[in-house]
Amino acid sequence: MLDAFAPYPLCKTTTNNTFLSLESAALIPIRSPAEIDSIRAACTIVHSVQMALEAAVVPGVSTQQLDELAEATIRDQGGVPAFKGYCDFPASICASINAEAVHGFPRPSPLNDGDVVCVDVGVKLDGWFGDGAFTIGVGNISPEVRQLLSTTRASLDAGIEAFVPGGRLTDISHAVELAALAGGATVIREYGGHGIGRSLHEDPHILNYGPANRGPRLKVGHVFAIEPILSLSSADVEVADDGWTTVTTDGSIATHFEHTVALTSDGPVTLTLPVGQPAVGVPA
Ligand code: MG
Repeated sequence: MLDAFAPYPLCKTTTNNTFLSLESAALIPIRSPAEIDSIRAACTIVHSVQMALEAAVVPGVSTQQLDELAEATIRDQGGVPAFKGYCDFPASICASINAEAVHGFPRPSPLNDGDVVCVDVGVKLDGWFGDGAFTIGVGNISPEVRQLLSTTRASLDAGIEAFVPGGRLTDISHAVELAALAGGATVIREYGGHGIGRSLHEDPHILNYGPANRGPRLKVGHVFAIEPILSLSSADVEVADDGWTTVTTDGSIATHFEHTVALTSDGPVTLTLPVGQPAVGVPA
């Protein structure tokens, strides 16, 4: 989940982010393999929720129903919905439809054929957090939206591939942006990824754009939520009257994919995609 609120400035892109020094690497927690396993357990629940939601997204279902399904799936496995109550957010998922980029409230109105819905879900389990998002078309969607979805997934994959020991933080940012531009998409710059572990949002903030080779060195034990948010046109967003729902200023479709990823001695490991499980939000 991305964050846009004053008490939690780490997850919103600002002009005074301080992460761009090598020295700030000390602020980024290093997790042991056992701790990563704990985060993995929370992330395994995230993936199971995503699988349930993916199967449930059809024309006529409401995002409120999806939210109820998500909460039940989390609690059945002993987890706690990490978003519910976070900064007073009222639900277990963010469900952002069409031009809504992030932080949409679940609501009772049905999804329509041709809609695009992004579902972002966080889970807390035994004091550890997992966070993941995917975007999916409802029924039939246009070729250009299908292309945007493909580009957003490719952008996330590129960011993950750049998350390697000895690299630097903005190698991830740069890889995300290059893949987005290669697919003809626009990066929504106001939000980015984040560290995750004992809290939903930890250092560092991870931009989805900019030059490579800046910021702290990437180290084994870092655990990041990497999450490109792209649109068909607008780079700018505004927050609706509800104080949360964040919409592109020109009404263009926005999409968002997110994985929680651990950097291990074997390279980046996507914790929200458990071994042997299918990826969500990928057309058959
Ligand atoms: Mg997140």
